[in-house]
Amino acid sequence: MSCLRRQLSTLCLLLSTTLSAFAIPATRWAAQWEPTKLVNGSPVLFRVTAPLQLSELNGNFLGQEFSFRPSKTCHCWYAFAGVSLATKPGMYTLRVEGKGTGGKQTAMSYLVRVSAAHYPFSTIKVAPAFVEPPKEVEPQIQAADVAKKQAFSTSDPDPLWSGPFQRPAQTETSGVFGSARVYNGVKKSQHLGLDFHASIGTPIHATNAGTVILARPLYFEGNCVMLDHGQGLVTVYMHLSEFKVKEGDKVAAGQLIALSGGTGRSTGPHLHFAVRWRGEYLDPRTLLELHPPAK
Ligand SMILES: [Zn+2]
Repeated sequence: MSCLRRQLSTLCLLLSTTLSAFAIPATRWAAQWEPTKLVNGSPVLFRVTAPLQLSELNGNFLGQEFSFRPSKTCHCWYAFAGVSLATKPGMYTLRVEGKGTGGKQTAMSYLVRVSAAHYPFSTIKVAPAFVEPPKEVEPQIQAADVAKKQAFSTSDPDPLWSGPFQRPAQTETSGVFGSARVYNGVKKSQHLGLDFHASIGTPIHATNAGTVILARPLYFEGNCVMLDHGQGLVTVYMHLSEFKVKEGDKVAAGQLIALSGGTGRSTGPHLHFAVRWRGEYLDPRTLLELHPPAK
């Protein structure tokens, strides 16, 4: 009998743990993150439940502040954040601070482990002009830098994205994020995006809803589209052959934004897809695997 009771209480505990993560307000604080194993360069989706009705919830992780959104489907609060490539392995604090509907302040902290990512190494051959650009293209490079700086300087204060992030092309991927690269045996860099095989003219779609903050030719990136998804989250689509949107356009998730190509510093036609959050590049593959709740 005591054994049965123990089994029942274990079941009860399991049930209450599961239920507490899906109820607002919950009986206690609870936090979950995705992916469960965080590494440097990883996007992260936090889900939090609080033991009281909140009107707002804000988070702080790795020195970045962000706001949570409530979701009726998960009965939780969720927020997007990132672990920069430069983050050392260790335990870091996620601090959440909420305001109760009665104005009461409440807070909780969680320890989050960040492990070291093991990114591969590759050697790349491109046209010499893209490794050591000739002097005459300096104005082009400078103009591109100004355009990018301008694009990155504004991000909607509210999240514009909703639901899962979709693949920008329905093709195979290669050239994974984070791989160390040697261009023509000369210059070392790190590959800060995910490459999709894409012959010229392949339809490229917005990974999620957002605003077009850049749609123009750049020296290294070639024809490039950047989408702002709010709160510092930007996705970048490079080496395009044709634009299907213009700067300032609002786009829906999955909307056709361009056709792929091989413009700029490219080894051949493909789509380079990058994810940037608050000035740091994050692993696009992980972003595409997240399961954000619907609003
Ligand atoms: Zn690439």
